Amino acid sequence: MNNYFVILAAGKSKRFHKNQAKQFCNYKNKEIIDHSVEKSLNSKLFKKILIVTNNLNHLKKKNYPKSISVIKGGKERSDSSLIGLKYLKKYKPKNVFIHDAARPNFSIKLLQRLLENLKQNIAVVPVVSSKDSIKYKVRNKIFNLNKKNSLLTQTPQAFRFKELYSLATDEKNKISDEATLFINNNYKIKFIPGENENNKITFFNDINISKTYFGIGFDIHKLIKNKKLFLGGVKIPFHSGLKGHSDGDVILHAITDAILGATGKKDIGTYFPNIKKFKNIRSPKMLVPIIKNLYKSNFSINNLDINLICEQPKVSKYRNKIIKSISKLTKLNKDQINLKGKTVEKLGLIGKEKAIACEVIISITKYD
Ligand code: ZN
Repeated sequence: MNNYFVILAAGKSKRFHKNQAKQFCNYKNKEIIDHSVEKSLNSKLFKKILIVTNNLNHLKKKNYPKSISVIKGGKERSDSSLIGLKYLKKYKPKNVFIHDAARPNFSIKLLQRLLENLKQNIAVVPVVSSKDSIKYKVRNKIFNLNKKNSLLTQTPQAFRFKELYSLATDEKNKISDEATLFINNNYKIKFIPGENENNKITFFNDINISKTYFGIGFDIHKLIKNKKLFLGGVKIPFHSGLKGHSDGDVILHAITDAILGATGKKDIGTYFPNIKKFKNIRSPKMLVPIIKNLYKSNFSINNLDINLICEQPKVSKYRNKIIKSISKLTKLNKDQINLKGKTVEKLGLIGKEKAIACEVIISITKYD
């Protein structure tokens, strides 16, 4: 596994119109650059990941693992790339991948395919065909480029280190990507299918495509003897349980309703009416398919805030268990879930332990 991954992140983002360089802007819950960092790490294909940047201080604060090095980049992309290659030389790499931080959407599968193809080739480059028709200009005359014969190159691009190093150190001109070096020197490049999602983020609008929604859910069930009590999917020892067509889990019902509310999909009763089929259904079986649908439609949950309204049982005693259970069902991190216990000063039906109620608010974001 003598492979190295170089992330070029020294760009100033002239076209991005934001104070911050785009590679450090937030995109799908993390900075753009960290999508590339995490995927290259998780692929377990690389001995070292090298980030070449002009924002050393910002990246040093991140406490990356030891296998990630951060060094100062150059003025142009090709300068940074050469700085990276020179830094890596002492490790005697066999293969090196060069990647632009502004492409956060490649897959680990692509990394695997690049490496596989590198066994028989010295340069492997992912390409996609253009969706737009391309024209080119020669001395003020416009020509059509045949879409079928035009290839758009992407990164990561994969190379044998030795060949890339010698071409890059010999090159006197600025180059737009490493593939250009091989083309200019008549070396054979193996082109493999790239990924349409793996677009370069150039304009702020490229990432400003998310929308956030809120949803609210409320539920109340009567407490009755001889029934098990379930709250948040956890069985709680108690003198009574919640009456209902299902297991009466007010927390999971309120969460389900909050999700349906946020996505404009009516309510829990629409999907799980009081019919024989759903008699005594456990509430996780209602919540999980709704969650799956939510994630399938490109939503992600930002956070859940829950008020459990009851005199007994005491929430503090079961908080960790309930949060753990909800985190498992929703695939959220525990710190995205908050559970508060509210009593009602012994007032009314809830105060007399005849019922338990729950309200939930949820925030979700849709990525296109
Ligand atoms: Zn209910």
